[in-house]
Amino acid sequence: MTNIIHSIQRALIVAGVHGNELNGIYALKKFVQHPDLIRRNSFETLTLLANPKAFAAVRRYIDQDLNRSFRKSDLQDLTRSSYEDIRAKEINYLFGANGKTPVDVILDIHSTTANMGLTVITNDRPFNLQLVAYLQSLKPAVNIYILPKSKESSSLPSICEFGCTIEVGAVAQGVLQADCFQQTEALIINALNYLEKYNRGEILPFDNSLTIYRHLGTIDYPKNESGELQAMIHPQLQFQDYQPLAPGQPMFLTFDGQTITYEGELTVYPVFINEAAYYEKGIAMCLTQKQLIHNYQLSD
Ligand SMILES: [Zn+2]
Repeated sequence: MTNIIHSIQRALIVAGVHGNELNGIYALKKFVQHPDLIRRNSFETLTLLANPKAFAAVRRYIDQDLNRSFRKSDLQDLTRSSYEDIRAKEINYLFGANGKTPVDVILDIHSTTANMGLTVITNDRPFNLQLVAYLQSLKPAVNIYILPKSKESSSLPSICEFGCTIEVGAVAQGVLQADCFQQTEALIINALNYLEKYNRGEILPFDNSLTIYRHLGTIDYPKNESGELQAMIHPQLQFQDYQPLAPGQPMFLTFDGQTITYEGELTVYPVFINEAAYYEKGIAMCLTQKQLIHNYQLSD
């Protein structure tokens, strides 16, 4: 593991890790049809429709979540043979560190049913912070969500040290929505421009501060012993991603109208609130802490 990248040789744009997230998939199709949009002089840009079977079926996945199929031990486990297991192995064989055409940077496009606007998710490696800071400097509405490196270990981007995941929303699963499509497209173009500037040595360390949302943990829906839902996201919290949630404020509403409040000790900033794909994961929302980072370094 290294935190330093000397020059980018190859970048990979990925969409359709989840087959029902159409905006990224159609943005990728556009890039494939118009390669001049993603061609840059100093590095090669590759594209990948990650889960074509799930896209054909307009489903998140066929057998299991592809974005939880990249654990190192699973990639080496020959007995794992679901569609997504095999697909993960193929993708790692092509683009992973020891692959045929290893990539230096992955830009992984998703969408969310939560009201997260334009979000870039990455870890706090300095290169990645610089990349997302650049994206935010061009578009201040970009939210930066930082995951601990351990959290990413089973996701597709974990096969590469550098890059970010893009989430746009709110958009329903299986739905193309022009504003999300255009925001996704612009963000990818800007990210590729950043990589080009980086290779040319044109990136100056940002000395201004950067607002990030750091992952703290997840909260499940209230459930009974048989695992049945006992409450919904409270209407006052629905679509309030990135807004402060203080102790004592409404979090859930039971079916007979009782409010369940947030009982933590600190004010937190929930994201992925009521994400449709997370019901099966036992996640009603992810909690983050809002932080200001000052004078972070270009590399360490
Ligand atoms: Zn997704």
